[in-house]
Amino acid sequence: MYPWRSLYRQHACIACGQFGEFPLRRLVSGHTVHLICKRCTAVPWVHERLVKENLFVDLVGVSGKRLLPKGRKRRRYPSTS
Ligand SMILES: [Zn+2]
Repeated sequence: MYPWRSLYRQHACIACGQFGEFPLRRLVSGHTVHLICKRCTAVPWVHERLVKENLFVDLVGVSGKRLLPKGRKRRRYPSTS
């Protein structure tokens, strides 16, 4: 059972319910609809879900931490930056 649907707590990752660091947006310029933690962005089913739901991950987290190391150009998920 995934907490995906019922979970809408602030700062909680949509996939695992732990603290979510990175904002997810419906549109690149839209408001934040969910948060996700770094760990879950690497989980295949979560990634598929994000693509399917057209959610974009901010590469810079709420505390200024970067999701990917600088200079890396791998595009594993849709992103706003
Ligand atoms: Zn998570």
